[in-house]
Amino acid sequence: MSKVYYPAPYLLLTDELQRLPGIGPRSAERIALWLLQSRGANPTRLANAIQEASQCLRTCKLCGFFTTEDLCRICSAPERRVHPICVVETAIDIIAIERASVFLGRYHALGGKFSPLNGIGPEQLRVTSLLARVKSERPQEIIFALSADVEGEATTHYLARLFSEQGVLVSRIAHGLPVGGGLEYADAGTLSCAISGRSRISLE
Ligand SMILES: [Zn+2]
Repeated sequence: MSKVYYPAPYLLLTDELQRLPGIGPRSAERIALWLLQSRGANPTRLANAIQEASQCLRTCKLCGFFTTEDLCRICSAPERRVHPICVVETAIDIIAIERASVFLGRYHALGGKFSPLNGIGPEQLRVTSLLARVKSERPQEIIFALSADVEGEATTHYLARLFSEQGVLVSRIAHGLPVGGGLEYADAGTLSCAISGRSRISLE
């Protein structure tokens, strides 16, 4: 049946759902039908949540994470001030690390990584604000947690050299095999990273 017979609000809803990452036409229709017909669905509550989030949330002045105030809850927490600064690409990366509960310091989201082909260099990213933070906060260490691709590597090396020259200890997260993963399933790039980034076995 041609879509010309579909009601306009239904088409609008499925069109908007298709704009979401990873949602194709079939998934958009499934979600729309669930929202409209399922007893557990509450489309008004969902719409309100989206509206409130888009109106109230902004980026933290210091680190670039989501917040409703000038500073996010991580930057406002005094107990996190004494630890290293972890440099990531986006706010989503902060969520990923927070979810693991393995880092107790503060973050700095650059807003991306170097991409000369797209005209993205230090001036297009939040590098100046990172320089200012390092000057005022004087962290003992900066940990780089950027992508392991060519652009991520170039960004890490540029910034690591910049801050190393200022006397700050610079480090990067390890790249290699996933925990629980066997060697036979690893690709050549991952194995190469795992071997070059090997660490000494502590026998103490
Ligand atoms: Zn923050």
